[in-house]
Amino acid sequence: MLLRLGKWMRIMGIDTENAKPGLDDRMLGIYCNEHERILVTRDVEFSAGQKNSILIINTDIREQIMEIKMRIPIKREDFLTRCVICNLPLRSYEHKDNDLLPEDVVTKCLQTCPNCGRVFWEGSHTDNMLKILKECGVYT
Ligand SMILES: [Zn+2]
Repeated sequence: MLLRLGKWMRIMGIDTENAKPGLDDRMLGIYCNEHERILVTRDVEFSAGQKNSILIINTDIREQIMEIKMRIPIKREDFLTRCVICNLPLRSYEHKDNDLLPEDVVTKCLQTCPNCGRVFWEGSHTDNMLKILKECGVYT
């Protein structure tokens, strides 16, 4: 499974669905074709039989990110624009009087997911993510 890579692809703003549990390879292949989605897999045979797929060779997450970068155009402005859990584009967050956000983040540029309601902001955690992506050569 490539769930961790999927999370990083969302961090980079790539529209990424995880395979539904229990869906067999054949059905997954059909799903990807019908929805014009690129299949990302570690399965050599499955990848070879799929018209639009990316075969991931490495096990290290940084190496995997580099494999994605070689195949999918990645734009810096798309980073941190998508919910890492739900895969939906984020919207700007409207402050409410009763929101329970930590005091040091309320002044930051906040975004929220229209599905799960999580609130996202840039800080040391996103700096660390961007540092990793930079080290992977995803952007300069
Ligand atoms: Zn969400």
